Amino acid sequence: MTPFVKRNFLLPLFVIILGFVFYLLYFSPFVKYTVHNPHVENFIIILLMFLSSASIFLWFCFGIAGGVFFFVIVIALFFKYIIGLESNICAVIPVFLFSSFLGNSLHKKHIKMRQEYTVKAEKIQEDINLIQNHYKNRVREISAMEGKISSLLQLKNISDELSFSFSEEDVIRVAVDRTFETFKDDSRVMLFLVAEKRYGLELVCTAMGEKAKPVIMKKGGTFERWVIKNMQSLLVKDARKDFRFSLNPDEDNEEYIAIISKPFISDGNIIGVLKVDSKKEGVFEQHELRMLDIIGEIATVAIKNARLYRKTEELAIRDSLTGLYVYRYFMDRLEAEVKRAIRSNVPFAVFMIDIDNFKGFNDKHGHVAGDLVLKNVGSILNKKYSAGDIACRYGGEEFAFVALNYNKTQAVKLAEEIREDIARAPIEVRREKITVTVSIGVAVFGVDAKFREDLLMEADKCLYRAKAEGKNRVVCAD
Ligand code: GH3
Ligand code: MG
Ligand code: MG
Repeated sequence: MTPFVKRNFLLPLFVIILGFVFYLLYFSPFVKYTVHNPHVENFIIILLMFLSSASIFLWFCFGIAGGVFFFVIVIALFFKYIIGLESNICAVIPVFLFSSFLGNSLHKKHIKMRQEYTVKAEKIQEDINLIQNHYKNRVREISAMEGKISSLLQLKNISDELSFSFSEEDVIRVAVDRTFETFKDDSRVMLFLVAEKRYGLELVCTAMGEKAKPVIMKKGGTFERWVIKNMQSLLVKDARKDFRFSLNPDEDNEEYIAIISKPFISDGNIIGVLKVDSKKEGVFEQHELRMLDIIGEIATVAIKNARLYRKTEELAIRDSLTGLYVYRYFMDRLEAEVKRAIRSNVPFAVFMIDIDNFKGFNDKHGHVAGDLVLKNVGSILNKKYSAGDIACRYGGEEFAFVALNYNKTQAVKLAEEIREDIARAPIEVRREKITVTVSIGVAVFGVDAKFREDLLMEADKCLYRAKAEGKNRVVCAD
């Protein structure tokens, strides 16, 4: 507590004391009738001494007004005794005067100190304000930084996940799901891709909350057309107020008014559009669009890589001349089919096909014409191929064919069809139409053999028999 606070209750206290002193000096019978008694004089002196220290207080606390007021009151109180020229009392008067001046100077010093203190306090307050502002700015910077770090971490995770996705389907799923996680559940995320060998977009994947409305235009709408036309990202805070667009209820969900969209551009061509929309006006800002841009860039590269990967994989498992599978891939697939057939107990047949007298053909018509024959046989086998079947260039001018779900009778029938098709499909060499024939050995899994190698051996034996029996024929195991 400072003296400024204390004076609030000091004043009434002194008024009470003064009242009491006044009573003693003027009305108390004890002082009134025994004033010349030396004890009473001493009492008055002690009283004056006490009032001197009280005076210091009053000057100190109330300044000139309080001090002068108190001084006048005290002099008035003791006037009667001062006039009586009681020598001891007179001696106290200068002391009393001195205490008044002392109080006054203390008061002035105090005011000065108070001013200095106020200036210092203001300065400290200013410093505190500066520190507080600095602190607030730092907190803001830190939270912005944390936001950026979490966005970057999110992007890193998406990038990591996409770089480990080798199939296009995985890339699409990851890109859409992670985008949805980034923008949360009141948004809808949709990915349109340019359909291969066809013009226009096709909706390939979506992610949205349970209450979201389904996408009505599977081939994109107003905003996708804008993105494709301008080949740039799009930010629409409120589609109803955006002069660039007039919504078409047949194409666009009109409740979804906030939109961000990013085109996937690969080698200068649009390959897709990633779009996020929401019913909440102004929910997307530049920051969200930047995030979508980055996700889109990563996803574009990942889709491109997945397509390249698929092509490379195809090249690795396909024979370049005939387009049929290579021996290694055939053997792997055959192994898988053997396991599947054991599990499901559904038979399948293997054909070993060899061109008849091919050495002679090469010698007569040349290797290039021989290659044309191989290509021709390859395309006929490809035509006979139904889902799940395996057609392979087994080596040189030998082919292998796996016909799924075929029993022996059906397999022989199919093998005959293949043999006839080949025999009826001539190739033109120097304007001459030439046909070749093939011999085919047929073996059925589960009937003729129970292991992959045995099955191939059985088919090979049948082929050998077909050759031995005069070629251009189908032979199956007995
Ligand atoms: P067979 O009726 O008993 O099968 O008699 P063939 O003359 O066909 O005998 P064989 O199967 O041993 O012949 C293999 C020939 O296939 C040898 C080779 O000239 C030819 N050949 C193998 N690979 C190729 C190829 O990639 N291109 C061409 N043009 N010919 C090939
Ligand atoms: Mg051969
Ligand atoms: Mg041959």
